[in-house]
Amino acid sequence: MKTISNIYIHIPFCLRKCNYCSFYSEAETPFDDYFVALKKEIRQYQKQYRIKADTIYFGGGTPSLVKPSVLQDIISLFDLKNNCEITLEANPITITEKYTDEISLTKINRVSLGVQSFIDKELEMLGRLHKTAEVDSAIKYLKNNGINNISLDLMYGLPFQKKSDLLYSLEKIIAKNPVHISTYCLSLEKDVPMYSLKKDIPDDEIVADFYQSISDFLVDNSYNRYEISNFSKKGFESKHNLSYWNLSNYLGFGASASGFVDNLRYVNFADTEKYINAVNNSKKCYSANSLTANDRKSEYIFLGLRKSNGISFQKYNELFNSDIFRDFGKVINKYVDSNFLVVENDNLKLAEKSYFISNEIFSDFIL
Ligand code: SF4
Repeated sequence: MKTISNIYIHIPFCLRKCNYCSFYSEAETPFDDYFVALKKEIRQYQKQYRIKADTIYFGGGTPSLVKPSVLQDIISLFDLKNNCEITLEANPITITEKYTDEISLTKINRVSLGVQSFIDKELEMLGRLHKTAEVDSAIKYLKNNGINNISLDLMYGLPFQKKSDLLYSLEKIIAKNPVHISTYCLSLEKDVPMYSLKKDIPDDEIVADFYQSISDFLVDNSYNRYEISNFSKKGFESKHNLSYWNLSNYLGFGASASGFVDNLRYVNFADTEKYINAVNNSKKCYSANSLTANDRKSEYIFLGLRKSNGISFQKYNELFNSDIFRDFGKVINKYVDSNFLVVENDNLKLAEKSYFISNEIFSDFIL
């Protein structure tokens, strides 16, 4: 039986939809039937795979709308490795003193707070429900309860945003001394309420400069950029997210959750009712794509290059029993010659100037 170490659990409920959000979530209260189906789905997979969890990630949606006892109920379905990283994504408005007290009774040991900005006007434009004052209290309650492994999210490239606004939020963020910071460049899909403000997003060169400023600022303040958009204090890299970039197997549970196992990428139905019905009737609740050997080689490269350590030539050769220069020599040489990629000992990495335009480089690695 194959052993799986990484688990993603999707909680598709939010208090209300944010103005920029195109993730699958419903503006409703978490309800029991969802968790009954979720637990059934987990048990079904447990017949096929041995799960010894090294990471569990509750993502959403807003997982912090769920009672901690319900989250612990789900956690207790898994056999956990020592030091299993268990992350809860949380909206600062839900992190009250009572909620945090209850969280400290569970095995959750990492909280990722959707802060996004330290300017209330920006939060309002984004349609976030919280104000900056709630971020302060959320962090205080978490730390009072011994939860110090806190990650804060920061969004940039917002409509009307000036560099001074971004630097203001950055200053505020590091004053909170989180061990991890994730950054996101805002992108607006056609179907979101904020789409009409797309024209007010600063030009690409300005947003590229924002990215560089964030990176320089955080590195100067003792954060390590271990992935294109993720920064941490030493030893606090997200183990769960690293498993994605290392092309490890993981199982995703819940509506719209995705997983990768046995060379299959699957995505569960992004519809709570359809998902619950399928699981309850023991029917297939996902669509899936089987990855060819070439797909896996390409994914290994473009996911791995996201990490500042890049990819190891030797590991590639071991994984695919193939020489990376035979498969990708032309593209690698092209980017190394133009100084967009760097070879360092056994590793291939992004050069500094490539970080913000990495997607263009990655697309050349699709076989
Ligand atoms: S809280 Fe997150 S998932 Fe929910 S609507 Fe806002 S951005 Fe989307």
